[in-house]
Amino acid sequence: MNLILLGPPGAGKGTQAKILEERFGYRQISTGDMLRRNVAEGTPLGVEAKGFMARGDLVPDDLIIRMVEHELTYPADVILDGFPRTVPQAEALDALLARHHRGAVAVLFDVDMGVLLERLTGRWTHPASGRTYHVKFNPPTVPGRDDVTGEPLIQRPDDTEATIRKRLAVYTEQTAPLIAYYDDPADPRLVQVDALAPIAEVTAQIVALVRGGQAAGAP
Ligand code: ADP
Ligand code: AMP
Repeated sequence: MNLILLGPPGAGKGTQAKILEERFGYRQISTGDMLRRNVAEGTPLGVEAKGFMARGDLVPDDLIIRMVEHELTYPADVILDGFPRTVPQAEALDALLARHHRGAVAVLFDVDMGVLLERLTGRWTHPASGRTYHVKFNPPTVPGRDDVTGEPLIQRPDDTEATIRKRLAVYTEQTAPLIAYYDDPADPRLVQVDALAPIAEVTAQIVALVRGGQAAGAP
């Protein structure tokens, strides 16, 4: 079953996507990572997206939908991390899923907004892989270095307090309406995990939901 990870910045979506990818062979599709690669390579998409990302705004829907479109031709189950983020993106995703005869369940990361600032200001990222660490909650084995490659970790330029506050406001305005979109009584497709729990416990909750059939099908 394809999974859509839904929740505010810092809820732990990327962390869980990477764990599920390694353990169960899912493929993570992170629109944030894809955009950052485009920015680093200076592609036309990256040039267009850069300012929106730096301000903490969403990149326009048409650019995002075009970027994600061909990813859904991937034969194995995917984890959508950071997409969709608006109702038009969710509608476009539904059309794409239908075209490829695929279904998806949305996993809502239920988290207290109060913890997100600490999670994001303490986040360290390995840019090439998108792996993330946290100075306190998930430190790398060697400080400042990626566990797998030993390469240096960076702090994302949008993980500053002012931009984080903007991103959280954007989430509340533009992305939170997706909770009702996926929790439609006529076609409920939403499950929920307690994302305040430690990382391993959140993974266990997702695995239990998927295995228990609530997310229709084992990983
Ligand atoms: P998202 O992809 O939702 O923006 P991340 O997965 O990058 O969030 O997590 C944000 C930060 O919080 C990272 O530094 C990560 O190590 C840390 N983190 C993720 N999940 C948890 C958790 N359950 N408890 C504490 N810290 C966490
Ligand atoms: P993330 O890595 O998911 O925190 O995303 C980082 C930034 O990339 C966001 O603040 C947006 O500017 C942009 N972005 C990522 N995914 C999307 C999306 N689905 N729609 C619009 N903008 C996005």
